[in-house]
Amino acid sequence: MPDEIFTKPFTQQEPLPEAAIARAVEVMRHGRLHRYNTLPGEYGEVADLEIEFADFTGARFALAVASGGYALGCALRAIGVRQGEHVLTNAFTLAPVPGAIAAVGGVPVLVEVTEDLVIDLDDLETKADRARVLLLSHMRGHICDMDRLMEIARRHDLTVIEDCAHTMGAAWKGVPSGRHGVIGCYSTQTYKHMNSGEGGLLVSDDPQVMARAILLSGSYMLYPRHRAAPASDYFEQSKYDTPNVSGRMDNLRAAILRPQLADLPQQIARWNRLYQRLEAELAGGQGLALVSRAEGESYVGSSFQFRLPAFSAPMVVDFVTRCLARGVELKWFGAKEPMGFTSRHESWHYVPPQSLPRSNAILAGLLDLRLPLSFDLDDVALIARILREELQKTRAI
Ligand SMILES: *Cc1c(COP(=O)(O)O)cnc(C)c1O
Repeated sequence: MPDEIFTKPFTQQEPLPEAAIARAVEVMRHGRLHRYNTLPGEYGEVADLEIEFADFTGARFALAVASGGYALGCALRAIGVRQGEHVLTNAFTLAPVPGAIAAVGGVPVLVEVTEDLVIDLDDLETKADRARVLLLSHMRGHICDMDRLMEIARRHDLTVIEDCAHTMGAAWKGVPSGRHGVIGCYSTQTYKHMNSGEGGLLVSDDPQVMARAILLSGSYMLYPRHRAAPASDYFEQSKYDTPNVSGRMDNLRAAILRPQLADLPQQIARWNRLYQRLEAELAGGQGLALVSRAEGESYVGSSFQFRLPAFSAPMVVDFVTRCLARGVELKWFGAKEPMGFTSRHESWHYVPPQSLPRSNAILAGLLDLRLPLSFDLDDVALIARILREELQKTRAI
């Protein structure tokens, strides 16, 4: 029997819901795309999205911006990170995270990650006194023990910003991801949990921080037109000394996000069915280690990771190549050269070189695949068969 081949693309998301398309058309018909271009008595799609997102996360305040990376930079500026200041972050994350730190003149101090792909809290404890801020990345949707992390943060007086690019809709012990630190940052870029092409959101309960974030985002003193915002007197304190770093969201993107936000809980359930099916199919696979999840974690399984801890680099390359030949596209985080994405700290030359032996050993055998909602359970079963068969064919190289 010939080998089965998987033919669906791993980068194809679902089309936008009809409600999103209809709302976008409405915005295009009236032409008021700029968030502050509103009629008397009208707030506009962006302000409405902010109210709805604040409600979704349980935050007091929310701000919609141009991208997830912008949200991170805006958060760092809003809490006053200065030139040359050290900022702690995970050694395993995506380039926009150290990039946001570097962009405000900060110096990333990388913290090791564990086999569960979360920040290593013992390493955090030893490095905590070297910085005032931790930009915590819930990379690939894996959430660490947030109780212990926040306890360490309190003891060392660390301000925590959460990068929730992969945890929009996830939670730790019932508290939404992004609601543990001072600011939560989210992305609505096509490959995240809501799709507006580009886009980002910030949430916070801190009125001073949020007033600065709104001023930074380019509010032209039109902050009274925000709905999920602190009272005007908070802006009085910072409106003269907060630079405008324009990065607003527009009404068109907010219009297509609002119906998606309403659908997000159902979408999360669909992602998790795919994820749990793949996990069940791969359990016990030869030489393959699954990534375990803590009990307190409610995750969104929009991508899937596994490790091949005993594989040499040539063996991983061979395995990835054979899977690709059968249509299964895997990302390998151990590759020396950044290709298509960068998540390896050695390829970020703007970050001072740091010794991270444990993270390096984990990344050397770490593989990842996307689970777009354009896949169904049969697709996932086929992917699992291909992975298992190719694992079995693996020989030491
Ligand atoms: C995508 C991503 C971001 C930034 O999102 P953009 O909207 O692409 O700027 C931040 N952190 C992680 C871990 C991401 O994957």
